[in-house]
Amino acid sequence: MSARDLYQELILDHARSPQNFGALEQATAHSHRENISCGDTIDLYLLVEHDRIVDVRFEGQGCALSTASASMMTEAIKGKSLSEVQQLTDHFRTYISGEADTLDEALEDFEAFQGVRQLPARVKCVTLPWVTLADLLTQKPD
Ligand code: ZN
Repeated sequence: MSARDLYQELILDHARSPQNFGALEQATAHSHRENISCGDTIDLYLLVEHDRIVDVRFEGQGCALSTASASMMTEAIKGKSLSEVQQLTDHFRTYISGEADTLDEALEDFEAFQGVRQLPARVKCVTLPWVTLADLLTQKPD
């Protein structure tokens, strides 16, 4: 199996059975966003305690890319402090924009989207969950 096929498989696995999918009743922060160019929608819920993301869930209707990205993102940020999550968000942005070519360990699954970086319309699908997360990080008082 080529690396490309493995990546495809990883994206499809997450799209078929997304992690942390569903509503989060005790959420302390929530944001909704849409990617009009593809029709993806996402609702992202965070439970933040003592500046740490204790739980995270998402709901929405999206293509395989946006769903897989949201699923991988929730896995990467769960249990992390808000400052760590801010760093991951910045790191993701430099990778997906092509400024950086390597990913640190917490985001290694996002290597699967390497080939998408040349496709601006699809980049929006992968970026959607992260833009929604960024809304919530800037909502925090400090
Ligand atoms: Zn999409």
